[in-house]
Amino acid sequence: MLRMEEALDKILSAVQPLEVVEIPLRGASGMFLAEDVFADIDLPPFDNSAVDGYAVRAEDTRGASPDSPVLLKEIGDIAAGAVGGAEVTEGAAYRIMTGAPLPAGSNSVVMVEDTRRGERTVEGVVLAAILEAAAPEMHVRRAGEDLRVGAKVLSLGARVRPQEVAMLATMGRASVQVVRRPRVAVFSTGDELVDIETGAVPALGKIRDSNRYMLAAMVEEAGATLHSIGHLPDDLEATVAALKETGDSRSGADVIVTAGGVSMGDRDFVKPAVERLGALDLWKVAIKPGKPLAFGRIGSTLIFGLPGNPISAMVTFELFVRPALKKMAGGSGDQLTRRRVTAVVQDEIAHTPGRREYVRAITTFRNGLYEASASDKQGSAMLQSAVAANSLLVVPEESAGIAPGMSAEVLLLE
Ligand code: AMP
Ligand code: MG
Repeated sequence: MLRMEEALDKILSAVQPLEVVEIPLRGASGMFLAEDVFADIDLPPFDNSAVDGYAVRAEDTRGASPDSPVLLKEIGDIAAGAVGGAEVTEGAAYRIMTGAPLPAGSNSVVMVEDTRRGERTVEGVVLAAILEAAAPEMHVRRAGEDLRVGAKVLSLGARVRPQEVAMLATMGRASVQVVRRPRVAVFSTGDELVDIETGAVPALGKIRDSNRYMLAAMVEEAGATLHSIGHLPDDLEATVAALKETGDSRSGADVIVTAGGVSMGDRDFVKPAVERLGALDLWKVAIKPGKPLAFGRIGSTLIFGLPGNPISAMVTFELFVRPALKKMAGGSGDQLTRRRVTAVVQDEIAHTPGRREYVRAITTFRNGLYEASASDKQGSAMLQSAVAANSLLVVPEESAGIAPGMSAEVLLLE
């Protein structure tokens, strides 16, 4: 049986990034950039005010304080979006709004909070009382102080988060080159499953199909596109036909994820179907839950056969499918996996040496440390503990159990 890292290495080495596409910026959130991005303009593009206030000549405000204000002539106001042309002369000030162009002659802005407007009017001219001596460059944003035209602002391979979207928009990029999202088909398997769409309460011996919906949600959370969701009966020919059709079709799936039917049961048909249609590269990994994970290929479509117990399906998707989807989408390195932290374990966790175990846990950050508590009822069909959990606590293969106060690695799932 392969160890966790060996299995992941094997899977990732079979996975290549998909094609580069140019798409509208609005659709690029969560994708990975396939180009370096350079500034097409200086940022900010012109000298402007960082506050609402008065644009002044700093030297005209010397000695100003609340007790002895300096009075300046207000010679106009400049709104954001105004076109230049204004000029501040000795003893005068412009009222100015945040983001408005700094008038010529002015080298500083006094915040409106440090002024009093209309203190006096002399011959029809409003006088502004300046209550604070301004230093040169105060509250002034100079052209190019953030970025110069031509500077590299984003690198190929970066994930497009909201702040990358803002940078791309600032540089006028209505469209952007990214690696396309993988298309993933999801199948549940098993004659015992009832589709919730029927509205039926499961008859004796039947259960509701949860994996189909969970895996669809996991595909989307991973930034991939759901190609289709379906169900396979416990029948070899039907399984072969459905997998062939899904891998083959013109807008075929890049990845097929099945749940169930990969163990040692007499009616587990996913592996034989993959072997018939393509090649099985891997079966069984030394982890708990999730040991019977299968991975293979049907033509250019990758197939992950996940075990059917909902927790086994969830854990194996997290550990193997999600990193593979991220790599296909153009991610690399730490972008492929969840954040790992070291946490102080709060309770006793029994473990028999052998497989690496992933325990559903609640991890919190308290007094500068992560603390992890195993959620109750760790059976691989028990969903309640997964609902309570926000992380997976890793119990190493050789561990004979973890005692309270010991440290363990935790994968943060959110
Ligand atoms: P299998 O891997 O097909 O042997 O399934 C293992 C266990 O998971 C069995 O108890 C199945 O009934 C259950 N199971 C399989 N698929 C699903 C599903 N889609 N939703 C809920 N439970 C499932
Ligand atoms: Mg089954």
